[in-house]
Amino acid sequence: MYPIAFVSLGPGEADLITLKGLKTLEAADCIFYPATIIKEDAISSRALDIITELNIDSKKAIPFHVPMSKDRSLAIEAYHRISQEAEQQYLKGLKVAIVAEGDAGFYSSIHYIFDTLTKQNIPVEHIAGIPAFIASGALAGIHIVKQEEELNVIPGIISANDLIGKIESGKVVVIMKVSQCQEAVKECISKIPTATFHYFENVGVKDKEYYTNHTHEIIARKFPYFSLMIIHQ
Ligand code: SAH
Repeated sequence: MYPIAFVSLGPGEADLITLKGLKTLEAADCIFYPATIIKEDAISSRALDIITELNIDSKKAIPFHVPMSKDRSLAIEAYHRISQEAEQQYLKGLKVAIVAEGDAGFYSSIHYIFDTLTKQNIPVEHIAGIPAFIASGALAGIHIVKQEEELNVIPGIISANDLIGKIESGKVVVIMKVSQCQEAVKECISKIPTATFHYFENVGVKDKEYYTNHTHEIIARKFPYFSLMIIHQ
């Protein structure tokens, strides 16, 4: 039997998957991937876009949809269902992969599936990948942290005052899911003009990638889901 592999896809550019991740997807019999339902018969999935660009046979790719409602019990139910489906495939002796964008162990909700399978004593394996903020630093040509600097990664839920406090204490701050705290970030920009704000959208995604460190552009922008910030004092 083969352990169920949690394969990190990297942030969006197909070439940024690791060789180990690619080999695992090529060898897999079935690949579960996250998708969003946009219409009754249409889905959108960045994970599937990456898999397709890697020339992986899409016939073995199985979408899963996790409801994003405030009621987390619906999402948990969906994760349990996917865990069961993955377990069934595993028990047939098939090679099962479950994919996630960026690194599969970094703010990735598929950890619910990972934990559920682990509790069922199903062997699992996490294949590391490049998280979006690392690819963002490379895109901007910045050194994210140097020498004695400390890095603070936060998940987009923060007030302007707390954010200002972190920046003024000299920490380098990465804000994931920055769309959730747009107002706090914009207030912070106006209050700490000496800091440098690096703003990123859709890093590695063709025709959608965007980067700026011009504060007037950031203030005018509506942050989409796939956006993040790196802030230096
Ligand atoms: N596992 C992912 C993070 C998932 S959380 C990783 O390792 O990077 C989802 C958040 O990640 C998004 O809200 C956004 O802040 C960030 N993100 C993921 N992919 C991105 C991309 N291509 N460009 C910019 N931000 C991205």
